[in-house]
Amino acid sequence: MKRIFASVITIGDELLIGQTVDTNSAWIAQRLNHMGIWVCHRLAVGDVREEILDALHYESDHADLVLITGGLGPTNDDITKKVLCEYFHCSLREDPKTLERVKKMFSSRNFPMLESNLRQALVPDCCTVVPNDYGTAPGMWFQSNHVIYVSMPGVPHEMQGIMTDRILPELKTHFTLPVILHRTLITMGLGESQVAERLISFEKSLPDNIKLAYLPGNGLLKLRLTVLGDTQQVLAHELDQYYVVMKDILPDIAVIEDDVSLEGWIGELLKKNHLTISTAESCTGGLIASKITSVPGSSAYYKGSVVSYANEVKERILNVPAEILERYGAVSEETVIAMVKGVNTLLHTDLAVAVSGIMGPEGGTPDKPVGTVWIAAGAADKIRTHLYHLRYGRSRNTEITANYALRMLGEAIIDENKRV
Ligand code: AMP
Ligand code: MG
Repeated sequence: MKRIFASVITIGDELLIGQTVDTNSAWIAQRLNHMGIWVCHRLAVGDVREEILDALHYESDHADLVLITGGLGPTNDDITKKVLCEYFHCSLREDPKTLERVKKMFSSRNFPMLESNLRQALVPDCCTVVPNDYGTAPGMWFQSNHVIYVSMPGVPHEMQGIMTDRILPELKTHFTLPVILHRTLITMGLGESQVAERLISFEKSLPDNIKLAYLPGNGLLKLRLTVLGDTQQVLAHELDQYYVVMKDILPDIAVIEDDVSLEGWIGELLKKNHLTISTAESCTGGLIASKITSVPGSSAYYKGSVVSYANEVKERILNVPAEILERYGAVSEETVIAMVKGVNTLLHTDLAVAVSGIMGPEGGTPDKPVGTVWIAAGAADKIRTHLYHLRYGRSRNTEITANYALRMLGEAIIDENKRV
């Protein structure tokens, strides 16, 4: 089967100077990759006529599909439409449907219409207009010499909406795409190179149409197997077989058999087991709570958090005995155990997780250096603990601590389910 190649051109001066991080091309590349379209180039250019024209000429020689974002705003620096007209030898026309849409959008919000807003309804007369339900600038679909070009606004949520609702489904019918299937195993506890070492002969055994990708995150490593071919059923079977083999090589570090977030994973476990949780956070300052509540529907199982940063709060609110704090210190196994008990009692939950650590750059001592973290998770009568030694900067240490805490909480939930 012929491979379909795509290139992504992001347009905007702000991207070149790093003022805006180009998240659009990463988002687009992920979506295309998932449906079996090969991204061969990603290119960022300024709002400059010559640069945009050069990019279009170059990419049209290499790709079957060119996706373009940015430069469609109402301000004078945005020139993408004009340049597209020049590239495709056409002119701007007013699109009545877009004009109506823009007018409606302004009147429903009671905003005054400006001349520049009306210009959003001007489109090259050689394109098919792709309606934008999320903003004023429409998307534009061009076809020339067997290459498809799609130009979209730079605003990420508008681009994502247009892509999801209109462009991706259209691309699926336009191109003959291979069947592409993925299966992900999330591991924690070993670095990328150590895992790769254990998977050497497994990787060698993979047929050409199955690829293994290592996707490291904060304290976790996703292993993604991708299979490419023609027949869904055959491929799914083949993928499952290799997946099981891979999983069996890593029983000690395999955490989740799906491409989900840790907080999404614990959410599902809690709903299934009808359990409630709370958190007591010192060094993560509420990050664990923020992750848990980022999951829609988390109110079904999450009751709340005590951000007990000061010892005084650990003592007064969570009932951590003063003697424990004095004798073992705030960053100790005894303290996090007492925090779990305290928050479970205070918030009437089945299970809780507590963290206390030294995130840096200051605050370390010879016996408790920066990166020392104690985590406890469980029910009042069964609490698991773990000591970690992290070695990064403050923000990464905090992120990793939150992820480790979620992992321990997940394991505590699985354990609790076996007990009841
Ligand atoms: P534009 O369509 O050029 O008017 O862009 C509108 C907004 O989207 C601006 O605030 C840009 O900073 C933002 N934006 C443009 N391109 C990107 C991109 N590639 N990734 C993330 N944001 C972008
Ligand atoms: Mg711009």
